[in-house]
Amino acid sequence: MPREYIDLHIHSNASDGLLSPLEIVELAMKKHLKAIAITDHDTTDGFVEAVDYANKNGLELVAGVELSCMYMDNDVHLLGYLIDYRNPEFVKIIKKFRQERYERGEAMVTKLNELGINIRMDTVTAIAGKGALGRPHLADALVKEEFVHTYDEAFARYIGYHAPAYVPKMNLNVDHAIDLVHLVNGVAVLAHPGTLRHDEYIADFVDMGLDGIEAYHHLHNRKMVEHYKSIAEKYDLVYTGGSDCHGPRKGKILIGTVKVPYKCLENLKRVVKSR
Ligand code: AMP
Ligand code: ZN
Ligand code: FE
Ligand code: FE
Repeated sequence: MPREYIDLHIHSNASDGLLSPLEIVELAMKKHLKAIAITDHDTTDGFVEAVDYANKNGLELVAGVELSCMYMDNDVHLLGYLIDYRNPEFVKIIKKFRQERYERGEAMVTKLNELGINIRMDTVTAIAGKGALGRPHLADALVKEEFVHTYDEAFARYIGYHAPAYVPKMNLNVDHAIDLVHLVNGVAVLAHPGTLRHDEYIADFVDMGLDGIEAYHHLHNRKMVEHYKSIAEKYDLVYTGGSDCHGPRKGKILIGTVKVPYKCLENLKRVVKSR
């Protein structure tokens, strides 16, 4: 079978995914993908762990990262692709983000305790392991300790955006995040704009230097994919896509379920070359 599809948005257990980087590579090969990107929150450890194994097996592995930012009081996610992940300044900055994630986790545990939910940080860190700490780890801990029945209930009742134990992350501005991706020669792509639901911000992000938008995503229906492709065309941006797989946390493993053509990766490389 000729391999023509890719998946440019996957989380490993180096952040809040459940699969190890090597398991991700194996699944991608099983699905006959030609290339994938591991785009963990605030870390490239997963990419580093898997890159040799992927290359040995003829799978192209793209260095990526997902950064969380705020814009006009909205959560905005920015993907960085083809990044120079060894850049010492970048390494230092994302390490600080991971530290902030840990402290934010502690703050959320404190809020939960104040709400009478007797959860301990130890339980959360045991679930997170070496992974950059995120709300999914807290959700898993709340399920494990039987404070909620399901993962989704944890977000709805406690740690979702409008829920009582939610604590925002450090306030990284979108323009700073784009600059950070450019500092490491990467391509800056707006993640899942369909969940942001503020298309009017895209023009502002383009002014800040945005290079592309994620058109294909498991939360984008076919109409949205076409919509974001046309927005990319309008602003002369590239479009990309991926599943945003976090492993089997929500049941199905999403790797390869969103059909993204290899051409999207070629376009990312073209952006880097054209500079
Ligand atoms: P964090 O980066 O710690 O804020 O966690 C964000 C992650 O939590 C996202 O990547 C999603 O996987 C997950 N998440 C956020 N909101 C929800 C929600 N309402 N229901 C289920 N999962 C969510
Ligand atoms: Zn995540
Ligand atoms: Fe995201
Ligand atoms: Fe993601």
